[in-house]
Amino acid sequence: DQLDLSEGLLSCVSSSEACKASAEPRNYGLMDGLPEAKALMAGIMEVSPEELVVGGNSSLNLMFDAVSRAFTHGVTEGATPWGKLACVKFLCPVPGYDRHFSICEHFGIEMLPVPLTADGPDMAEVARLAADPAVKGMWCVPKYSNPDGGCYSDATVRTIAALTPAAQDFRVFWDNAYAVHDLYEPVSVLPIGAAAKQAGHPELVLQFASTSKVTFPGGGISAVAAGPETLNWIKKCMFFQTIGHDKVNQLRHVRFLQDIDGVRAHMRRHADLLRPKFEAVQTALAQSFEGTGFASWTSPRGGYFVSLDVYPGCAARVVGLMKDAGVLMTGAGATWPYKKDPKDQNIRIAPTCPPVAELVTAMELLVLCVKLAVCEKRLEELGA
Ligand code: PLP
Repeated sequence: DQLDLSEGLLSCVSSSEACKASAEPRNYGLMDGLPEAKALMAGIMEVSPEELVVGGNSSLNLMFDAVSRAFTHGVTEGATPWGKLACVKFLCPVPGYDRHFSICEHFGIEMLPVPLTADGPDMAEVARLAADPAVKGMWCVPKYSNPDGGCYSDATVRTIAALTPAAQDFRVFWDNAYAVHDLYEPVSVLPIGAAAKQAGHPELVLQFASTSKVTFPGGGISAVAAGPETLNWIKKCMFFQTIGHDKVNQLRHVRFLQDIDGVRAHMRRHADLLRPKFEAVQTALAQSFEGTGFASWTSPRGGYFVSLDVYPGCAARVVGLMKDAGVLMTGAGATWPYKKDPKDQNIRIAPTCPPVAELVTAMELLVLCVKLAVCEKRLEELGA
């Protein structure tokens, strides 16, 4: 149903006449994107079009490239490539996005978990850990975090922008994947780019976003925004990587979504489809577990996930029981670096895909599996 909302994307650019844009989208060129597409992504990311490059179909790809570039050529021109260093560490707010952690594993980056609070990462812990010059980066999903759905407070954003890490080439990887994904009233997170400039750190942050959960995941457009020095460096390195990204798809997105108001209207249609799914999850959990000590969970106002913390030592068992009964969930531990949840407690619920009726059945099953797993654990603990 969500994909059908973007059906118009498949027909809005269907002839060379319809392809007319400020520049020729069908040919090579404009490595940093069609001007109209830059304006569209700038609206989503709350930066100006000159501050970004439009990429291909995946923001994760741009994040991988950013880390890869830092390893082979440094974060800016003349910076020491991380690959020449004995040890590179990243701060990883937990629970977090498994794909961020996989990028770190791929490059041999040591991951340091930082607890997420209701206001975002524990900034005292971030400041303490960033005093180590081997700490070169930090992952952030500032709005409707994956998986807990929380949003960073203004104070947290300002503290991140004002951070003075020991490493000059420390970078914040600001993955704003859910920038416009409100389920209820729109929530605004303080724009980090402006805050970082104000704090005198214009090069501290690399920002990423895409239309993956706006139009077609895997068939959307992405962008990276950064300070002027970093952006020039990205373009300079990108020159060797590509002659340009898919501008026809960029044009399609511009024609279909038009501008940030069009994006917001489109996202309200997504919210109408997704709200009942999120509410089915909340109802099932509240009816079964409120006040029991079996589980606690988040109640996000947007994004794509609900984070469920079950009684310690039970998450893997719950996901295993679900699998045996025919419901596949994200693996237990996936929300922690190295897939090692120290308390074996966190489970990511992704309610967006199944129809509501199937989701209700799946939630009945999840409740049953949590009850079974927790009872088994309690009996074991009691030596029964
Ligand atoms: N970032 C976060 C936090 C996500 O949750 C996801 C997908 O689930 C992505 C990035 C992937 O984005 P893209 O499709 O643009 O690569």
